[in-house]
Amino acid sequence: MNHDPRSHGLWDASAPAGPDTKALNANLHADVVVVGAGYTGLSAALHLAQRGARVVVLEAQEVGFGGSGRNVGLVNAGMWVMPSVLPGALGEAMGNRLLTQLGNAPSLVFELIERHGMDCEPVRTGTLHCAPDATGLRALQERESQWRALGAPVRLLSQAETVHKTGTDAYLGALLDLRAGTVQPLAYARGLAHAAAAAGAQLYTRTAVNAVHDAGRHWRLNTASGGVVNAPWVIVATNAYSDAAGPWGALQSGLVRLPYFNMATAPLPPAVLKQILPERQGAWDTRQVLTSFRLDRQGRLVLGSVGALRGGGLSIHRNWGRRALGKLFPQLRGIRFEHEWYGEIGMTANALPRFHQLARNTVTFCGYNGRGIAPGTVLGRELARLVLGEITTADLPLPVTDTRPARLKRAREALFEIGAQIAHFAGAR
Ligand SMILES: Cc1cc2nc3c(=O)[nH]c(=O)nc-3n(C[C@H](O)[C@H](O)[C@H](O)COP(=O)(O)OP(=O)(O)OC[C@H]3O[C@@H](n4cnc5c(N)ncnc54)[C@H](O)[C@@H]3O)c2cc1C
Repeated sequence: MNHDPRSHGLWDASAPAGPDTKALNANLHADVVVVGAGYTGLSAALHLAQRGARVVVLEAQEVGFGGSGRNVGLVNAGMWVMPSVLPGALGEAMGNRLLTQLGNAPSLVFELIERHGMDCEPVRTGTLHCAPDATGLRALQERESQWRALGAPVRLLSQAETVHKTGTDAYLGALLDLRAGTVQPLAYARGLAHAAAAAGAQLYTRTAVNAVHDAGRHWRLNTASGGVVNAPWVIVATNAYSDAAGPWGALQSGLVRLPYFNMATAPLPPAVLKQILPERQGAWDTRQVLTSFRLDRQGRLVLGSVGALRGGGLSIHRNWGRRALGKLFPQLRGIRFEHEWYGEIGMTANALPRFHQLARNTVTFCGYNGRGIAPGTVLGRELARLVLGEITTADLPLPVTDTRPARLKRAREALFEIGAQIAHFAGAR
């Protein structure tokens, strides 16, 4: 990907290749230009191209370079906030629309994977949200009752069932959500890229958009590779990887970045795989500095948590990873991690994604707060429908909001990074 073993780690080592792409150095005309080739941009491009629109996707690096190629791969239903919060925060109609769209979002992901034959390790046996203490258990009980009232297939597992499903006795219970599952995240991004290209979208990589000019009826986007694209509509899908000095720098200043890392073991022996996550659910816990764990297709255990693998954090998080693995699964004590990588999550103050109209016919969704696989796919589709005139902004599941600089952005980003180091320096001992 970019010769940095700490950017995409295992996912780059095990994902099938994306479509052949090159940098843009020509002058193109399109109906829609999509900036950024993660889930949001690629889903928008796929849905636009399928309906016959001329779409050009411009990506500064490679397909899946941002969060889409670095994440845990948990295809979650819903957001972090409790379901009951949404109608209060967004109004009854919009809140319920968001709940429905995000509750059903994993179905769209797994349908697309199947329909387009994407080789991305899909597993839909659910996810496990695990409670390490009584506070976490109470939160899961509340979450279970709210989702069940909405008819969602979720169930709070007993401690014994949780031990059986996870292979660790570290948790008092877990919320099993059968709508959800896991994917190989970079492979899913590349699968979307193949599907979008097959539907007629033109994809260019190593093509950073560095200037935008209003040419009256259309926008003219200039790229660092020398190419130009003219289009009446622009979908900006750069999210937490937006360039602060670029044409839509307000997106970067509006989000607070939370670093998150993953470490992966070698494939585990078959006998151990019968004990740890035998049904291959993806799991995470209710702690603020959370721990996530899942298996990949080869049976590697992928352990993750908050933190950036750089500077002093590198050895602190590595050492925590070894200890945490041994505590969760004593049979893995002493086992080496073969891959380690990290990325940045775009956080918002109310933990909900945002929709912005950045200029005339220039739209974006961003700020998925670490839940971007299914939401990015669904909201990318909604952007396509908006551009095509199938819906208006009043039909979206989120309000139109202004871009505003996040309060105390730098201080909060430093707090996330250093707070995770402090938690991991002391944790899992
Ligand atoms: C470590 C980590 C773990 C996570 N775990 C999960 C999880 O388990 N489940 C889940 O649902 N979500 C998870 N997330 C969140 C999820 O990965 C993101 O929300 C999602 O990938 C965002 O997709 P996107 O398409 O909006 O943006 P991105 O995937 O970040 O794509 C933005 C793209 O825009 C490009 N770009 C930026 N500027 C320009 C420019 N000027 N010109 C052209 N291109 C540009 C970037 O290079 C990048 O490729 C995690 C995120 C991280 C970082």
